[in-house]
Amino acid sequence: MIYADNAATTQMSRKAIEAMLPYMEEVWGNPSSLYVFGQKAKEALDEARERVAACLGASAGGIYFTSGGSEADNQAILSAAKAGEKKGKKHIISTAFEHHAVLHTLEKLKKDGFEIELLDVHENGIVSPEQVAKAIRDDTALVTIMYANNEIGSVQPIAEIGAVCRERRVLFHTDAVQAAGHLPIDVQKQNIDMLSLSGHKFHGPKGVGVLYARKGIPLTNVIEGGAQERGKRGGTENVPAIMGMTAALEDACAHIEENNEKILKLRERLVEGLTKIPHSVQNGDREHFLPGTISFCFEGIEGESLLLLLDDKGICASSGSACTSGSLDPSHVLLAIGRPHEVAHGSLRLSIGENNTEEDVDQILKAVPEVVGYLRGISPLWKDKLAGKREFLLPE
Ligand SMILES: *Cc1c(COP(=O)(O)O)cnc(C)c1O
Repeated sequence: MIYADNAATTQMSRKAIEAMLPYMEEVWGNPSSLYVFGQKAKEALDEARERVAACLGASAGGIYFTSGGSEADNQAILSAAKAGEKKGKKHIISTAFEHHAVLHTLEKLKKDGFEIELLDVHENGIVSPEQVAKAIRDDTALVTIMYANNEIGSVQPIAEIGAVCRERRVLFHTDAVQAAGHLPIDVQKQNIDMLSLSGHKFHGPKGVGVLYARKGIPLTNVIEGGAQERGKRGGTENVPAIMGMTAALEDACAHIEENNEKILKLRERLVEGLTKIPHSVQNGDREHFLPGTISFCFEGIEGESLLLLLDDKGICASSGSACTSGSLDPSHVLLAIGRPHEVAHGSLRLSIGENNTEEDVDQILKAVPEVVGYLRGISPLWKDKLAGKREFLLPE
């Protein structure tokens, strides 16, 4: 099997698994218990908080463990909204191509009377700090813009956007789920007030993540319960998962350059090969991108059919967001960068990691043109285009 869907989830590393085992087999006490056995788990948790903070240039007091990226996004946005509302601020700035954990939370706030302004991400999938500066108003409660896009891999000028927000005293949250462990993060230098990350996107376990919130930001509880996470997130901490995520994050952050160097080589060949397919277009920015994320649209095919036929050839890929598969709408990300519906339907996202090989690339480059050619061959629409009865949307 060739796994090229690392943006959906990653294989857990041996290091992450081994970091979890002692907290399932030996130190399995409840960190809230007062006896020594429970306190050992509490000590591990405190240490994990320090280690995660060190990876982000943060202080341990700003690290809150959550059930994943989605929960962290929800809590960050709802907290900023509530804090803003108290001061009469009900304007929130974001983009149309955020993850659904962000977009659906914003939709909920819209029903509560918030004004949500989604900035244009342009064809390359990038927002400029100037756009953000222009959009900020006196009643802006929050700017939330993702670090790296999960479908097309474009990377935002986070530090510059953060600087604009800081200057205008507006809270800035970034969904860094795709960036964490793959691109450098320093919440101080990058002027980030709140940040979300998720364990399973960098070879850690699923169902665990982090919300970073700068000191002084009032957090609203999404999960009510006990006094865990300094009263901001009820529920017994998932100690094994937190330890696994911490080990995975440290490992990923220590090898960012080395991993990206390897991934970039594979990427270059993939992009070069896929570009040769006629009537295709690459999505995302050519300069500011996540090395492992490669997105293309092929005119005249359905992304879903392409994925099924690739699966037959042992290749795991995606048409975009895992969250939208199963629905017939084209990806909201591809529509946000201005791809016409018909083109957006024929999307392919390959997200590779340091575990992929040159042989994987060989096989992908053999399979994709074959499958695209086959699907076009059986399409009546494509026949019409070849016969000149319909126009091509993408150049040869
Ligand atoms: C995967 C992902 C999430 C959701 O994280 P979970 O831990 O799966 O809830 C949020 N944002 C982005 C950009 C993602 O890629």
